[in-house]
Amino acid sequence: MTPIDWILCSLLLAACVAATRLFFSNLRVENEKKALLTQIGDLTGKITEMTEREVSAIKNQEAQTERHDADLEKPVLHKGIRFRRTHETGGKWAAFCTKCGLPAIGAQRRSSRIVMCSGRCGWEVFDRDGIPALIKEVEDSHAA
Ligand SMILES: [Zn+2]
Repeated sequence: MTPIDWILCSLLLAACVAATRLFFSNLRVENEKKALLTQIGDLTGKITEMTEREVSAIKNQEAQTERHDADLEKPVLHKGIRFRRTHETGGKWAAFCTKCGLPAIGAQRRSSRIVMCSGRCGWEVFDRDGIPALIKEVEDSHAA
């Protein structure tokens, strides 16, 4: 072998080593790229799942709020008195006149307790227990 052959062989060997390094480097980059794409896919799936769960939770909350609001608006007739629980009453049961709808008040007529219209429309019912006891009965019947 001539010195030029040795130089050519050395250059060829160096080129082979560089090509091999480049091949393995590219292989490593491809593997890392695949791993990153897998991670991106997993994260995208988790984000989608979390978003769907959040949307579902928000919808459930809205439905509960609507049901709660609907329950608040339903009047109840108890012992001839209309009871309502609205935002206007602070979400608490309150007695109302069944004739004109104004708030009912407790009063005493001779020796009897009565519940009557605060607007004095003429509506009244006898009740020996009074409005607080009646409200407790309505609350107990609607506790569940
Ligand atoms: Zn009235």
